Amino acid sequence: MGNLVGEMDDVLLEVRNLKQYFPVKSGLIQKITGYVRAVDDVSFSVHKRETLGLVGESGCGKSTTGKTLLKLLDPTAGEIIYQGTHLEKLSIKEMRPFRREMQIIFQDPYSSLNPRMVVKDIIAEPLIIHKLAAGVEIQQRVHDLLDLVGLNKKHAKRYPHEFSGGQRQRIGIARALAVDPKLIICDEPVSALDVSVQAQVINLLEDLQSQLGLSYIFIAHDLSVVKHISDRVAVMYLGKIVEIAEVDKLYSNPKHPYTQALLSAIPEPQVSGTKRERILLQGDVPSPIRPPQGCHFHTRCLYVRPECKEAYPPLRDLGSNHFAACFLAKP
Ligand code: SF4
Repeated sequence: MGNLVGEMDDVLLEVRNLKQYFPVKSGLIQKITGYVRAVDDVSFSVHKRETLGLVGESGCGKSTTGKTLLKLLDPTAGEIIYQGTHLEKLSIKEMRPFRREMQIIFQDPYSSLNPRMVVKDIIAEPLIIHKLAAGVEIQQRVHDLLDLVGLNKKHAKRYPHEFSGGQRQRIGIARALAVDPKLIICDEPVSALDVSVQAQVINLLEDLQSQLGLSYIFIAHDLSVVKHISDRVAVMYLGKIVEIAEVDKLYSNPKHPYTQALLSAIPEPQVSGTKRERILLQGDVPSPIRPPQGCHFHTRCLYVRPECKEAYPPLRDLGSNHFAACFLAKP
């Protein structure tokens, strides 16, 4: 596969043929009888100051991809190249400096914040672990970080349960920012929040990106949220990327039938008078243990042809950095 994003010199992260297979065991002796192919040969890159959206239905492998990039899960195969360094080869100790540069924020900030720690200790913890501040410096840094995410020093002595969902997500963001990361993996960061609060957190992430020069991998199942924040979007189905393109191109001219179906489900304001036809996908997502032969989407695709059941369509360059894995996709 060619370069998915054009210029290579400002690439921050490059992922090549990443696989994350989980063994399925059964019987008394727990014999391995198969593998869940959660991430199955995924390649993409992320540029400096770029937001790459990663979308798909629940269970498509997008969150597992995020965790594997940080080596919270050891990859089964593939390459994770961060600014020229192959992370997949590093030990836990060797990974430490890269853990600092690559942070993650989760969907449920409450479960990722220690309920027995006050906010100042939660945010100070990574500063201490990575020896980034000491003494009074720590308190000043915590106050600066709270300010950066729209909270203030009065919040420093409170416990996570004293905050709303949106405020807790801000605390999670402050903790991630404490170590001056370059890349943040945002794993469904607004999915648990009310719509009005979602917008505030998204706006905060955008402001922080322009202030601090961050890159994001923004994982979500809600395509309208992803559209708002992303520069490019990758669509995943059964552990594979089926389409990747710049956000405007993907939303205005989706090439893969799966992307077309996902987009048709987004309610849109009728400004132009033309209404997008809703495409109802038939059937369930097949098991990632035994994905269908050929194109994995063929069991649900409206345009399936005999050849779709024979071979998996490669992710092809359709021009202008628009890639799709469908035999019928045209430039
Ligand atoms: Fe549908 Fe065939 Fe394209 Fe797969 S390759 S998405 S089955 S038309």
